[in-house]
Amino acid sequence: MSGTVTEDKIIRLGKMLEDSRRVTVVTHTRPDGDAIGSSSAMVRWLEGKGKDVRLIIPNAMPDFLAFVIRECCPDHVTRFDLEPEDALRWIRSCDTVICLDAKGFGRMEGMQEMLEAHEACKILIDHHLDPHEEMFDIVFSETEISSASELLFWVLLALEGSDDASRLPMPVLRALLTGMTTDTNNFANSVFPSTFEMASKMLAAGVDRDGILSELYNRCRENRLRMTGHLLKDKLRILPCGAAYMVLRASELAEYDIREGELEGVVNLPLTLESVRLSMFLKEDDGYFRVSLRSRRGTSAFRLAERYFHGGGHEQASGGRLYFPGDIEDPSQAERYLERVADEFFETER
Ligand code: 5GP
Ligand code: MN
Repeated sequence: MSGTVTEDKIIRLGKMLEDSRRVTVVTHTRPDGDAIGSSSAMVRWLEGKGKDVRLIIPNAMPDFLAFVIRECCPDHVTRFDLEPEDALRWIRSCDTVICLDAKGFGRMEGMQEMLEAHEACKILIDHHLDPHEEMFDIVFSETEISSASELLFWVLLALEGSDDASRLPMPVLRALLTGMTTDTNNFANSVFPSTFEMASKMLAAGVDRDGILSELYNRCRENRLRMTGHLLKDKLRILPCGAAYMVLRASELAEYDIREGELEGVVNLPLTLESVRLSMFLKEDDGYFRVSLRSRRGTSAFRLAERYFHGGGHEQASGGRLYFPGDIEDPSQAERYLERVADEFFETER
């Protein structure tokens, strides 16, 4: 159980949800396993309580997460980038907004303005640093926890007034275990005592963890492995200061036919080297690089993301963007930028 889940807030949340009729659930752009797991579970749980509810996701998610939506809420999802009018109409008409796995509405693409100005009751359930608490009526925010999915698990159990996970519908449990598993890299990082407690309750409730692991990790396409080989063999640079980086250009992503989310986890590989305490992974997009950062304890990926990549996240796992032109003239300058930034960062961190 997490300290942010207090009796007082659970009572207020229970009342707020009881009074609500139409709920919007939102999560961050380019949603990952935790974003999809927590938000789908929320939608499925609310639907079970008779609410009129929609999950609005800003844009595409990785294919390997489709099973979560399929099991939880196949008919209750709108993609903002595909159906912006529908999404905005829905949001306008709702009385309650629940934001999951994002510290506020900043990473919701074109929905930010409407969500921020909305009169609806607003609830935040998140585990990122620096939450936008002032935007919300009720805030469940905890950074010492594996994932938004874990936090939602404790919130839902408290709302049910039970510590027995089997009180929650199986699709909800499966979605939450998916989110926790992906955000911890299958129990490799961000694991707390409460995380194992959650896992234990899940297994006791009969959740098929092996099945979920197969969905997540054993259904890759060959190109992911080929690309990983290319990255490690030809692209990985290791700097004397203790940083490592890999930069992927758009042409390489196209050549290997890489899809959204297909290189999940690759940024962790350089950290298996003893000399590396910071790993930076850049993928070229339209006018910017998407930046993934991972660090060992004692080095703050979060500060690096804030300072040099317009981003944020968690102490050891953060992300952001590197714009061109802007931060750098053109994409060919990315490597030079990373080398400069890494040196400067370690100088000032010391
Ligand atoms: P990933 O490297 O897996 O894409 O992201 C790692 C962490 O950084 C996630 O918790 C994610 O929410 C956060 N993150 C990724 N990109 C951004 C960004 O552009 N801005 C902020 N504030 N956080 C980000
Ligand atoms: Mn998360």
